[in-house]
Amino acid sequence: MAELEGLEFGKSDFVLLDEVSMEQFMENLKLRFEKGRIYTYIGEVVVSVNPYRQMDMYGKDSIEAYRGRELYENPPHLYAVSDAAYKAMKRRAKDTCIVISGESGAGKTEASKYIMQYIAAITNPSQRAEVESVKNVLLKSNCVLEAFGNAKTNRNDNSSRFGKYMDINFNFNGDPTGGHINNYLLEKSRVVQQQEGERNFHSFYQLLRGSSDEILESLHLQNDPALYACTKEGTSNNDRSSHRAVMNALQVIGFSKEEINSIYQILASILLLGNVQFESDGESVQILQLEAVNHISDLTATDPESISKSLLYRTVATGGGEVIEKGHTEQDACFGRDAFAKALYERLFGWIVGRINSVIEVKNYNPVLHGKNTVIGVLDIYGFEIFDNNSFEQFCINYCNEKLQQLFIELILRQEQDEYQREGITWQEIDYFNNQIIVDLVEQPHKGIISILDEACLTAGKVTDMVCLDSMDTKLAQHPHYTSRKLCPTDKTMDFKKHFRIRHYAGDVTYSVEGFLDKNKDLLFQDFKRLMYNRFSSSPFLKEMWPDGQLSITEVTKRPLTAATLFKNSIVALVDKLACKEPYYVRCIKPNEMKSPVLFDDARCQHQVAYLGLLENVMVRRAGFAYRQPYARFLQRYKMTCEYTWPNHLMASDREAVEAIITQHGFQDDVAYGQTKLFVRTPRSLFTLEQERAALI
Ligand code: ADP
Ligand code: MG
Repeated sequence: MAELEGLEFGKSDFVLLDEVSMEQFMENLKLRFEKGRIYTYIGEVVVSVNPYRQMDMYGKDSIEAYRGRELYENPPHLYAVSDAAYKAMKRRAKDTCIVISGESGAGKTEASKYIMQYIAAITNPSQRAEVESVKNVLLKSNCVLEAFGNAKTNRNDNSSRFGKYMDINFNFNGDPTGGHINNYLLEKSRVVQQQEGERNFHSFYQLLRGSSDEILESLHLQNDPALYACTKEGTSNNDRSSHRAVMNALQVIGFSKEEINSIYQILASILLLGNVQFESDGESVQILQLEAVNHISDLTATDPESISKSLLYRTVATGGGEVIEKGHTEQDACFGRDAFAKALYERLFGWIVGRINSVIEVKNYNPVLHGKNTVIGVLDIYGFEIFDNNSFEQFCINYCNEKLQQLFIELILRQEQDEYQREGITWQEIDYFNNQIIVDLVEQPHKGIISILDEACLTAGKVTDMVCLDSMDTKLAQHPHYTSRKLCPTDKTMDFKKHFRIRHYAGDVTYSVEGFLDKNKDLLFQDFKRLMYNRFSSSPFLKEMWPDGQLSITEVTKRPLTAATLFKNSIVALVDKLACKEPYYVRCIKPNEMKSPVLFDDARCQHQVAYLGLLENVMVRRAGFAYRQPYARFLQRYKMTCEYTWPNHLMASDREAVEAIITQHGFQDDVAYGQTKLFVRTPRSLFTLEQERAALI
């Protein structure tokens, strides 16, 4: 059999397994991992296993080997799907997207970087300066986003704590003209609190470790993360060299000196704010670290009294329209301080993304002059998360994965079946679990969990997390994917007062409802917003981060959308964006929990294969046909391999000519003829045709 790699490396496409079973799938996956073959196809889907070591397969030679080639012409690689997405975009003017999924530490972000590098490498052969600069900014933006959006977690030393979708725009030449980044749900709770063994966002340590003494002094900081409540948990990485790289990237992207300075002033303010503590004498609350407050006032261009006041009081409008100042309890003050620190960081991050977008947005594009503007989207978003303690963030993240799975089902499984019908090819239906029911459980109006949460947040008075849990238990008692201790009293793994459980497509996750309402309300006292908006800063762009600070307290009537609803809206918009593009998938698997390059943890891997639906994916591909090509294109490529079609055929249609090629090679059993396309079951026949073709040209 013509194979591109020796048999000792296992099957390069799971479609080629002798029999589709979990055992065979796992055996092949493991064999390939052990042989250093980290990529394997399921048709056009790339399954990737994190090698946890540097692989010698991303260099210039590799890029050249994959450039412009078909998927089955080379061993499986991210470059091959990147090229397929690029070709579809360029040749057929299709918008395409590459969706990278998998759990934390599975290799999504690394994959997205290789994909971008590949696309950058194969475009702009004539080295036009404008295009080079767009490419440069796109590549450098990763470095900045990672500094501000990634952190060391127990699962991944460089874990992305936000979701990222990047559109790259191309002109008719197929050269990048710009792009746009969307970011999703930054895990801002990390700014004020980290789990044991984890760190805050890299940016803080980079600032403290990498800045000169002079700069640190101007920021009222010292170079030791242990001195700050926000950073004292983490040990050092290579923060110093990263700091230099980030500074360079910021400059290349076009951030001005003043802007960079402001970014670091905000980071410093957050570090200092984290050290502010309060003391109550039973009557009123005082700030213990007035010096820190003075420094923050200097850094944020506000006066110290205003900061102290915002930390200790909140302005409220009474029913009669009167405005009064209400003193905080110590607990309220801590809550306010943390909310302020988190908001400062979240808005800074959003502002940085916006600033990058303003540089890379496509300007002056005239479709009449320049042809259709096409797009490749790359999605690198947090995978399914099951922790020991799962909270609101995991709830949102797992909901997002349900939505993406739904899209996967839509696009890969359903679309596939639909195409067979359209092309008039007989085929057997494959049973797969449709997770729409779980998506509904979360997002349905009135009945879904998000609605119930929002309702609880809107109810005046003291609605507690417990009341909310009660309400979910009442409304969702009958739902097959929802349960809680109250509904299932015998289940001692859950707590009456705290837990509910969702049967996700990827497995059961028990959530603690504690903190759900606060996180969903995402309350930041208006006093802080006004404080930031009204600062006497000479840099106008800082105001941009606080537009809602314009409102006076009597004007703030409309309730802002809740965090869950905002997130849901952003994910729905994302799915819409993806759904209208031709999708390519990279499914990442994490081989073990120890970051080991040699350990293949069978149980962990099998679990991932199961919930990613990879086996069903193979079945659909196998029951059907992994490869398909319009008759004309197939003929064009392989007509030289058959005497009846070379150089031209005399048959009534391209379809008949293709039949002649297939019959001459004896591949009848491996194909089916659709209305407009040839369907090929396994890559074997294509490998052979490719080799014959290569021998002839
Ligand atoms: P995710 O984004 O899925 O959470 P990452 O892409 O950050 O995971 O990968 C986690 C770590 O695994 C990386 O920091 C790197 O050390 C290693 N890794 C992932 N993919 C590769 C690869 N293709 N080659 C070498 N190391 C990799
Ligand atoms: Mg990541």
